[in-house]
Amino acid sequence: MKTSYRAMQVATPGALELVERPIPEPGVGEVLIAVEACGVCGADAADIEGADPTLQPPRVPGHEVVGRIAALGAGVPARWRIGQRVGVGRLGGHCNECEPCRQGLFQLCRNQPFVGASCDGGYAESMIARSTGLVSIPDELNAEEAAPILCAGLATFNALKKCGAEAGDLVAILGIGGLGHMALQYARRMGFKVAAIGRGQDIAADVLALGAHVYIDTRQEDAADALKRLGGAMAIITMIGDAAAIAAALDGLAPRGRLVLLGAGKDPLPVPAGFLVGGERSVLGSITGSPYENEKTLNFSVLCNVRPLIETLPLERANEAYQRMRSGDVKFRMVLTMDDRRPASA
Ligand SMILES: [Zn+2]
Ligand SMILES: [Zn+2]
Repeated sequence: MKTSYRAMQVATPGALELVERPIPEPGVGEVLIAVEACGVCGADAADIEGADPTLQPPRVPGHEVVGRIAALGAGVPARWRIGQRVGVGRLGGHCNECEPCRQGLFQLCRNQPFVGASCDGGYAESMIARSTGLVSIPDELNAEEAAPILCAGLATFNALKKCGAEAGDLVAILGIGGLGHMALQYARRMGFKVAAIGRGQDIAADVLALGAHVYIDTRQEDAADALKRLGGAMAIITMIGDAAAIAAALDGLAPRGRLVLLGAGKDPLPVPAGFLVGGERSVLGSITGSPYENEKTLNFSVLCNVRPLIETLPLERANEAYQRMRSGDVKFRMVLTMDDRRPASA
């Protein structure tokens, strides 16, 4: 029985280091996960660049975690068993006590850790997780392909469900990377007319293969004009936080259309009030979602054959995986794998 595990922790802001740590015991309501794979999400940048340098031990990032339950703490419900395949996304498990929890709005729980930010995440061979944050992984998905669904998949699938568009309506996906490439696949299979908005011709063939009906290259045309020519979008789902890029597409939103935001940008969003009022348009923020919604996302992915396009690297090369994610040098999601993990099959 191993007594230690390897982890990539934030050595200094922006840099990860490989360390060996003693395997912890899960506390009340917690499980120990033997991690098999962990996706590298854009949100990891904030956790790695903005990590508290005084924190001891330093933070382990990663919130697209798939593995198996290796140990159960006291009070964990019987639905979770040793050896079961589970995942954890960004939201680390709700408290069941606060006002949003009492309303069943678990994604808005006020006492919920953000995995990889306020508790250690999955750039590691072992991880402690609250059982309320666990997601069951379908047998049809291997660990590497399930991992990105837990954040990139969930965030985009839920946003599309909330976007108000109906089958046949034009839906625009703004920003084609880790999240956007999932959004295109889901949007196509949900029956929308799908417009992908990106920069450059290098991804044109990819976005059409992923499910877009139309590719709007903002280096060649104005996004809002292109959407208007197509009749106006009933929803623009934006993966990016760049306020100027969002503003440039906004005018393409049809009356009663919704702008759905997934990325929290630095700058305030310039949205003319008259544009909203005059067309009864709205702006909606969407946080990833609950474990139940995550299982719905995984199951829809199996049902409709949606898979992330991934490149894998072993855990100890997390710095390289992270830098490639940051520079956009990946199609479309980096996933870290643990060497001594068991076979991925169920
Ligand atoms: Zn994420
Ligand atoms: Zn709560």
